[in-house]
Amino acid sequence: MLNQLPHQLYIAGRWRNARSGRVETVFNPATEAALADVAFGAAQDVDDAVTAAAAAQAAWGKSSGRERGACLRAIAHGVQQQQEQLAQLQTANNGKPLSEALIDVGDVIATFSYYAELAEQLDDHQDQPVALPSAGFNATLRHEPCGVAALVVPWNFPMVTTAWKVAPALAAGCTVVLKPSEITPLPELALAAIIDQAGLPAGVFNLVTGDAEAGAALVSHPAVRKVSFTGSTAVGQTVMKTAADDLKRISLELGGKSAALVFADADIELALEIVCGGIFFNAGQMCSATSRLLVERSIAQDFTARLKLRVESIKVGDPMDPATQMGPLSSRRQYQKVQQYIQQGVAAGLKLLTGGTQPPDMAKGYFVAPTIFADVPVDSPLWREEIFGPVLCINTFDNEQEAVAVANQSEYGLVATVLTSDPERANRVSAALEVGLVWVNSPQVIFPQASWGGMKKSSLGRELGPWGLHTFQEIKHVVMAAPG
Ligand code: NAD
Repeated sequence: MLNQLPHQLYIAGRWRNARSGRVETVFNPATEAALADVAFGAAQDVDDAVTAAAAAQAAWGKSSGRERGACLRAIAHGVQQQQEQLAQLQTANNGKPLSEALIDVGDVIATFSYYAELAEQLDDHQDQPVALPSAGFNATLRHEPCGVAALVVPWNFPMVTTAWKVAPALAAGCTVVLKPSEITPLPELALAAIIDQAGLPAGVFNLVTGDAEAGAALVSHPAVRKVSFTGSTAVGQTVMKTAADDLKRISLELGGKSAALVFADADIELALEIVCGGIFFNAGQMCSATSRLLVERSIAQDFTARLKLRVESIKVGDPMDPATQMGPLSSRRQYQKVQQYIQQGVAAGLKLLTGGTQPPDMAKGYFVAPTIFADVPVDSPLWREEIFGPVLCINTFDNEQEAVAVANQSEYGLVATVLTSDPERANRVSAALEVGLVWVNSPQVIFPQASWGGMKKSSLGRELGPWGLHTFQEIKHVVMAAPG
C-alpha cells in the first residue's frame, strides 16, 4: 500500500504538492527507517483548501441526509476492503502492534457506518414541529451544518481520531479540511485516497498534511466556522484563544491523567488484566491511559507483586510480529519525553518496581520497557502530569472516600476505571468521579453510540454518538404567527 499511496495534499478533489515545494520524511518508529517523503503545506495551501471547502459548502449542506449517508457507507466499505493493508500502514507509521491496528481499523468502519445511519435519519427529523404554549404561533426546529470545519488530529490513534471527526462532520453537512499529525500522516493519506473514490463532490473533503504551521493557519482561517481539535491541552488552549477571535464553534479533546481504582473485593485476575491494558495498550500513548493506579491497602502488596510479574511477561518487540504485545513509542520526540520522566522519577528517589530502560535486544527503535513506579507521592510530577508512555504510578488508599478524593485530585477528568465486585459501590464511585466515562470491571471498550470526552482540562464538548453530530450543527427555530 505504501508504494501506491499519494504523498501530497488533497484539495478540491485533486492531489498536488505544497505550494512551497516543502516535503518532510516520515519514519517507522520500530526501525527508525524512512518510510516516505510527504508534502507539508503552509498558510497558502490551507487557504486553497478552505476556499475549496467554502465553495462546496452550500451544495453539500443542502444535499439530503440519504445522499451523505451513501457517501459515508462508501467510505466504510472502502476501508473494509483494505483492512489488512491499512492496519499494516498504521503499524509501520505509528508503531502499534498489528493486532491493535486491526482494532483501530474496525473502529473506523464502525464509526463511518454509524454516522451513515444518523445522516440517513436526518431527513425525517428536519423541520419538526415544536410544542408552544400559545395557539397563536407555530414553531419548527431545524438543524443546519455549521459550515467549513477544520479538523486537527494527533498521532496516537491516527485514523480513529480522524474518523470520529470526519464522519459526523460530513453527516451533518459540513465540508472539511483535515490536518493530520506531522508524525503519522500516512494513515490519513490512505483514508483520503479511499474518500476520493467514495463519490463526494470535489471540495467537500480536503487534506492538508503538515505541522503546527499548517494547523495554526487552519484554525485561524476566517472562513472556517467550526474547529474540532484533538491533541495536547497546551495546544488546545492556544487553539481556543485563536478561535475566540471569530467566535468559531469549537470542540476540544485534550490530555488526561486517569485513575484506575482497585478495591479489595475486586476479581483480582480481571483487575490485573484491565490495569495492564489501561496503561500498556498502544505503549501507553492514550489520552485515556489509566496511568494512576490506586489500590486498596489491604491487597496492595500482593496485587503489586502479581502486577510486576505480569508486566515483566509483556512481549515488547517488532509490532509486525503477531506475538508482540507492545511496540515502540511513535517518535523520537515522545521517546525522549518519556525517558526524561523516568529519569526524573529515579532522581527523585521514587521506587522503580520494573522497567525504566530500553528492553534488551533493541538496537534500533523507540522502545521503552513497561515501567512501574510504586508509592508515588501525589505531588510528584509523575503522578500529576501526562507522560503519554508505558509508565504506571501506584498509590494506595484506605477507604472509598479517600480513593475517590485522590482520583479526583487532578486538573484532568477524561476517564476512570473502577474494579469492584460490589454493584452499589460501583454506582456510588462512578457518580462521584469527575470524568466523562467510567469503565466498571471493563476494559477500555469504545462504542460509536456512546459519548467520548471528559471534564476539566481534558475536553470541551463530546465526540461520538448523536452529541458528536450535534457539535457540527447549528440549531434554528422558525416561529410563525398562525394565520388569523
Ligand atoms: P499536539 O497538541 O502537539 O498536536 C496535535 C495536532 O495539533 C497536530 O496535528 C499538530 O500538528 C497540531 N498543532 C500543533 N500546534 C498547533 C497550533 N498552534 N495550532 C493548530 N494546530 C497545531 O499533540 P500530540 O503530541 O500530537 O498528541 C498527544 C496529545 O493528544 C496528548 O496530550 C493526548 O492526551 C492528546 N489526545 C487526546 C485525545 C482525546 O480524545 N482526549 C485523543 C488522542 C490524543
